[in-house]
Amino acid sequence: MKRHIFRAILAVALAVLLTSLVLIMGVLYGYFQDRITAELARSTAYIAHGLETQGMDYLTGRLPGDSRVTWVAADGTVLFDNREDPAGMENHAEREEIRDALLLGHGTAARYSDTLSQKTVYYALRLADGSVLRLADTQYSVWTLVLQAMQPVALVTLLAVCLALWLAGRVSRRLVEPINAIDPDAPGETAYEELAPLVGKLRSQNRRIQRQVEDLRRQREEFSAITENMSEGLLVIDRETRVLSYNTAALRLLGAEGPVKEAESVLALDREAGFRRCVEEALAGRRWEELLEREETCRRVLASPVEQDGDLTGAVLLVLDVTEKEQREALRREFTANVSHELKTPLTAILGTAEILENGMVRPEDIQHFAGNIHREAQRLIGLVNDIIKLSRLDEGGYAAQWETVDLYQQAGDVLDQLAPAADKKQVSMTLEGDCALVRGVPQIIEEIVYNLCDNAVAYNRQGGSVTVTVSAAAEGARIAVRDTGAGIPKEAQDRVFERFYRVDKSHSGGGTGLGLSIVKHGAAYLGARVELDSEPGRGSTFTVTFPPAGT
Ligand code: ADP
Repeated sequence: MKRHIFRAILAVALAVLLTSLVLIMGVLYGYFQDRITAELARSTAYIAHGLETQGMDYLTGRLPGDSRVTWVAADGTVLFDNREDPAGMENHAEREEIRDALLLGHGTAARYSDTLSQKTVYYALRLADGSVLRLADTQYSVWTLVLQAMQPVALVTLLAVCLALWLAGRVSRRLVEPINAIDPDAPGETAYEELAPLVGKLRSQNRRIQRQVEDLRRQREEFSAITENMSEGLLVIDRETRVLSYNTAALRLLGAEGPVKEAESVLALDREAGFRRCVEEALAGRRWEELLEREETCRRVLASPVEQDGDLTGAVLLVLDVTEKEQREALRREFTANVSHELKTPLTAILGTAEILENGMVRPEDIQHFAGNIHREAQRLIGLVNDIIKLSRLDEGGYAAQWETVDLYQQAGDVLDQLAPAADKKQVSMTLEGDCALVRGVPQIIEEIVYNLCDNAVAYNRQGGSVTVTVSAAAEGARIAVRDTGAGIPKEAQDRVFERFYRVDKSHSGGGTGLGLSIVKHGAAYLGARVELDSEPGRGSTFTVTFPPAGT
């Protein structure tokens, strides 16, 4: 803008300068012509006087000035000329100044000579005898004048141009200064009232932009607050697979290092073929889903195209951690297979024994033995079915409304009473230590936990061993510890004993269902209790369950 103003001012200044120069030259030229004519008139009168008093001799003598002097007779014949031979000169009667002088007493004329590039000014005066005396002087053309005055004119023009440049620079700077002083972010008052509407508009626009920026920031914060609290990974990409937006869950699930670099391709975050397929399909306008399995983790990627006004602009990728779900599925499948197998074993035994009895192939004295077999297997079957029912109730939260306060010490006493016959059979001594310890929970589940631990402690004990049950009430919660003197559990099996149908020694299962410790683990989890196992092969095991404080 400053440059424009500068140029405009300079152009105006130069135009004014040139016009002034031309006008001045024109005016001066006219003025000079008038001066020459007046001078000629004066000289003509002077010489005319000399001619009239002294005759031709005066003309041939020394004439004043250096004008051309011509004396013309009344008929136009040239009588004398101080520059040319009058004999060779044509009749002058028709010359404008001569004609006027003959007619009016005096006449003037100015003629331009192209060849000489100069103008001749004539003044003619009629004398008393009717002849005419004419004086002529040259006046140079404007260009000649200009050329002659070139040096001073150039100097003046140069000075004027410099002045114009300096002034144009100064004025344009001055003009632009208040405009430059307007801060677009916070426009204040302006020195130009013409700019007031613009400044007002700037202010209102700034307010609008600020509001919009604020809205955007809030929306962004809301969006990131929502997405950051999501356990699912979310990625928004453009058509060129560049990541536009993402949450940290996405990076975690894809196993990528954050933060994502500017304009980084989403394909750099996960190089698995399935992931690439998802991205490609979504960017081809199709919804796509892939299950990505890697080591221990399992993720499901859902990709959807994003369209705007019918044009595909990118895609949204949702990454879900389905590890647990897949593991649960696998466990369920395994459990179903195990259940079928476990149910089949006693049923096959019952069926076989019943067939033998039915066929009458058994001696009467053996009938009791076979019937006992059927009874035992049926009981095992019922025990198994009961345990499965308990586990599924725990899985589905079937005990919800039955919470009560239970004395763990009393519960342990009851269980030990129930187990007394079995313990006697194995000559295992049972001791209960501690005092009243109240816990909040579902009585049936608490009983299951205590029963299964004590039952195992007897079942997997050695002949003549001992079981010590210690109940304690501590600030961090009531605790029951069941210690036995059995064979113990090898280190590698200590985690696995809590799995469904897992048995350390398949051949010496002790008649259990393989579900007891699973019930303990799930029951404890249901009540918010913690189960710990401390076992040393050959020296026995201690199972400890710590319940949450009764008040919570
Ligand atoms: P089960 O019905 O076979 O007893 P559990 O789930 O209760 O099933 O136990 C799983 C396995 O853990 C048992 O088969 C046994 O091998 C082992 N086990 C459990 N408790 C003890 C213990 N107190 N001492 C030694 N081994 C034990």
